[in-house]
Amino acid sequence: MKFAVFGGDQRIVQLCRLLAEDGHRVSSFALDKAGPLTGVAAAASFREAAEKADCVVLPLPAARQRGLLNTPLSAGEYPLEDAIGAIEPHSCVCAGMVDRDTAALAATQNLTLTDYLLREELAIKNAAATVEGALSLLIQETPVTLWDSRILVLGFGRIGKLLAHRLRGMGAEVTVSARNFGDLAWIRALGYKSLDTRALEGKLGGFDCVVNTVPSPILTEALLKELDPGCFCLDLASKPGGMDFAAASRLGIRALWALGLPAEVAPVSAGAIIRDTIYNILEEQNGKT
Ligand code: NAP
Repeated sequence: MKFAVFGGDQRIVQLCRLLAEDGHRVSSFALDKAGPLTGVAAAASFREAAEKADCVVLPLPAARQRGLLNTPLSAGEYPLEDAIGAIEPHSCVCAGMVDRDTAALAATQNLTLTDYLLREELAIKNAAATVEGALSLLIQETPVTLWDSRILVLGFGRIGKLLAHRLRGMGAEVTVSARNFGDLAWIRALGYKSLDTRALEGKLGGFDCVVNTVPSPILTEALLKELDPGCFCLDLASKPGGMDFAAASRLGIRALWALGLPAEVAPVSAGAIIRDTIYNILEEQNGKT
């Protein structure tokens, strides 16, 4: 197959490399700062890269700011309109975190963008990479071993589940919070201590670390005041995040908001996760990879 790859960060560079290693023809544009990539043809334009492409891959996120393609590894700035306008109508188009404007722009060209960030398999594998980054931060940022530490994980979604599992494997004493009765039952059935995310008042003492995965402001100043001195807080949730960092600073609490961990700690794996997801999309759409 022929893949055209437009813009993106180190994950997308790895994606190009992996696609080429799999024997596909790969043509890239707006990855000029990445240098030459074995098996990847650096095109002179979007149109040249997209010519006869079976699949066009736009980055994650597709748009850097309104109207511009996300091109952190390019010296140039490119309107999304130019990128999308160059895509041939038969191509399958995969893009990450597609905003409304980008989707509307594609629709004007009769193109449908499939958002690979919305795929559950990508979210689960990304969660595994995120958890590894979180473990590394917890090890680096605390003066104690994870073994025998008392750790509170807020949220029992993909990241919360995997993080609790890995932490227990390392010997930590794990408490997990959730807001629905089913998750609370699972938390108890799996042998963790449980807390109700909606009723944390009076329950936050006695932890060495708190890791938040809830993308909603739940760790308010009043709750932060309950933490033990020296408790380390790690927020993994996307904007708006889950904790009041200004209050944490006022209270002298060590707190870190760590976003983008898969790209930071495991760009090769992050690229492979995107590749596998794109293969799944192509298989579902056309039965081919
Ligand atoms: P998820 O599977 O959707 O889990 C989110 C958890 O938060 C669920 O337990 C959910 O409960 C709970 N929750 C959501 N809103 C809540 C609220 N208002 N009050 C109480 N609980 C609430 O998400 P995930 O995949 O684990 O990801 C968690 C966060 O990390 C997301 O913001 C995601 O974008 C971000 N993320 C960060 C990185 C990184 O590098 N730091 C990487 C990937 C993802 P219910 O199930 O009851 O809704």
